[in-house]
Amino acid sequence: MVTHTPTNGHAGEQDVDLTSSALNHRIAEQAANGTNGANGHHANGHAAAPAELDASKLTIRRADPAARAVPDEATACSGNETICTDHMITCAWDASRGWAAPELKPYGPLSLMPTASVLHYATECFEGLKAYRGFDGKLRLFRPDLNAKRMLMSTLRISLPGFNPKQVERLISTLVAVDGPKWLPADRPGSFLYLRPAMIGTQPQLGVQAPKEALLFITASFMPRMDSMPGGLKLHTSPEDMVRAWVGGFGYAKVGANYGPSLLATNEARARGFGQILWLYGPEGYCTEAGASNFFVVWRARDADGGKLQLVTAPLDDRLILDGVTRRSIVELARERLAGELEMVERKYTIDELLDADREGRLVEAFAAGTAYFICPVSLVHHRGKDVQIPLGKGDSGQYTAKIKGLMGDIMYGNEQHPWGVVASMD
Ligand SMILES: *Cc1c(COP(=O)(O)O)cnc(C)c1O
Repeated sequence: MVTHTPTNGHAGEQDVDLTSSALNHRIAEQAANGTNGANGHHANGHAAAPAELDASKLTIRRADPAARAVPDEATACSGNETICTDHMITCAWDASRGWAAPELKPYGPLSLMPTASVLHYATECFEGLKAYRGFDGKLRLFRPDLNAKRMLMSTLRISLPGFNPKQVERLISTLVAVDGPKWLPADRPGSFLYLRPAMIGTQPQLGVQAPKEALLFITASFMPRMDSMPGGLKLHTSPEDMVRAWVGGFGYAKVGANYGPSLLATNEARARGFGQILWLYGPEGYCTEAGASNFFVVWRARDADGGKLQLVTAPLDDRLILDGVTRRSIVELARERLAGELEMVERKYTIDELLDADREGRLVEAFAAGTAYFICPVSLVHHRGKDVQIPLGKGDSGQYTAKIKGLMGDIMYGNEQHPWGVVASMD
């Protein structure tokens, strides 16, 4: 029999900090001194300390601007390949030297060995944000600091190297400042590009271990508008024998490993005419997320519960769902500006509560919210043979959904000057 003596003397407590909350210590460490040895890699012996990620070291090799023309919005997303802009940013890391100088260079393929960590052990994480061409002509990002911080959290969750998030934010902004003027033409206000920062483990060695080499890269591309589906977004609840994320898992991190396994159910739902899965959790059937977006419901509470009109979304505290920038912004704006009309509620709620609200005539609206879908009205939820029809108002959107979308869009496109709308620059 193995006897276990906790070194800290408290029986039952873990003697090594292997918990998911250990992440918070590492993130705090990054903020304090930016050490990129955050995943346990340290410079050997007397070698100099590994270099920090430093956006000011960026080297620039420009593509021929005449080589490619900017497609119009309609054709840009019609093929099977995402069309990226002229340039991308890459930055290599290895455990002993740290971060190399970032490079801005012509968009093109990456080179990887077949034994690269990412191809076998899913050491990959990503971000998604947009660059917006404002109605005032400016190019803006929406709260990019939150994406950079979330990316740090995701990388540390899968033992990729840490970095100062401010530096990633600067790199993102630089790519937009370089490619935005051409690829988001000034005569197309109200349009956007999709930005995809990602990091992969590139060490060419098989064996389940934290990679000692990694690559950060950032692309900018076209993406179709998905916020106003004709007839609204139709959701199918997840199959009883499948979960997207679980307590103790990694659903809160934007790691590639969360998405591949969800495609089986998503494809099946699509074949039946639904747009996305509404992911439920546990025997209670808690509503969590809609596809890779957060999910919001507007309903009127029962009279016994105060009878208020509520905007409800799943909470972050059990770390099941992704802490969406769109979700967080809606929650904050609703509290700040819509408190007279709606009570903002973050709590666990079940699919049965949604069905009850529908049956009792209390269900008002629902929408999916995320960078890709922006704020997309949901018109139907199908659950175990039953259809819940959700009202869409005039113009295919409920009035509260439209109002929230308007508030967010005004900040993104510069109709309202707001600290969340950050003008892109090369500083
Ligand atoms: C990216 C993502 C979201 C939305 O996050 P935003 O920051 O608003 O784009 C929501 N859920 C999942 C699972 C996601 O991957």
